[in-house]
Amino acid sequence: MENNTFNERGAATNQDEIICKNCAAKLVFAPGTTSLKCEFCGALNEIEIKKEAIEELNFNAYFEKKEKSEDTQEITTVKCNACGATVTLAPNVVSDICAFCGNPLVIKEGTKSTVIKPKSLLPFAIDQKKALEAFRRWINKLWFAPTALKKYAQQSEKLSGIYIPHWTYDTSTSTQYSGQRGDDYQDTEYYTDDKGNRKSRTVTKTRWTSVSGRVVKFFNDVIVVASKSLPEKYLRKLEPWDLDKLITFDEKFLSGFKAESYQVGLNDGFETAKKIMEPDIRKLIEKDIGGDHQRISSMNTSYSSITFKHILLPVWISAYRFKEKIYRFMINARTGEVQGERPYSIIKILLAILAGIIIIGGAIYLYYYFLHGK
Ligand SMILES: [Zn+2]
Ligand SMILES: [Zn+2]
Repeated sequence: MENNTFNERGAATNQDEIICKNCAAKLVFAPGTTSLKCEFCGALNEIEIKKEAIEELNFNAYFEKKEKSEDTQEITTVKCNACGATVTLAPNVVSDICAFCGNPLVIKEGTKSTVIKPKSLLPFAIDQKKALEAFRRWINKLWFAPTALKKYAQQSEKLSGIYIPHWTYDTSTSTQYSGQRGDDYQDTEYYTDDKGNRKSRTVTKTRWTSVSGRVVKFFNDVIVVASKSLPEKYLRKLEPWDLDKLITFDEKFLSGFKAESYQVGLNDGFETAKKIMEPDIRKLIEKDIGGDHQRISSMNTSYSSITFKHILLPVWISAYRFKEKIYRFMINARTGEVQGERPYSIIKILLAILAGIIIIGGAIYLYYYFLHGK
């Protein structure tokens, strides 16, 4: 059976491999290492990393249904009623809480679907303790954050470690464009000044000529977030990821962590990749046009030799409920980069404004006191 890939509390395909040889307790992946660690006796079990090259899969073949069935798997997902995240369930679970907000999930509302299996991942490098420290440092630096939030950050002892699905695309692009090239030149302009004298001055003018052409560019590893459970704008800010360190997927790295399955499909992901590539293509066209100014009136890009990778990237998540709203924080578990939503304390902002008024008022008072008071 292959559908154990997305596990929760370490339900790996081969149970023997995640059971401690010393004490038979469950082994969990130890961040920053390539080992499974026993939480009871501390024994370390090295994970044998498969030495295969990280494979790029053919994009078009997947849509012609030529994909091998071993590249896909069936999963069960359930939508969280509290935060709207889609949570991938471990096989045979009867109850679970949402990894994104901590609310209980209604398991019987789960839906089954067939998805492409992840082929590679970046294991957690930063452990929970370091992630919590980074999270607290981040909260303490926030201006106008409610005191309750800072208190929460100090007391919070748990973060969820989740592997977030991403797509990466490689593609050759060829773009046909048309536009205009602007070349500046100096010209002498004659005019009459206020006193009625005829004068001349040098002005810069632009001469526009129509241009067209073609630019080609190869893109490597354009990364697209395949999750909708966390705000994309924050996930994007967790970049860059050290994709050169990707290793072949192994369920052992998921032991003790959660893994989400993608909600942005392969095709939709590529549409996002196109938007990510566009500014680079524009820059290339502007360089190709040359001159002092460029205008692009049309561009038509064709994509060829598209390949993709489906990867899992490690993120520590904390969800904080404040005044009926959920705020989420996420930490890049490779670099320690923290991003997140934040509440503002209205009281702190008002107090700061008030303090500002008092200081300015005081300064004005002192100014007049010393100027006219004597
Ligand atoms: Zn043990
Ligand atoms: Zn939730």
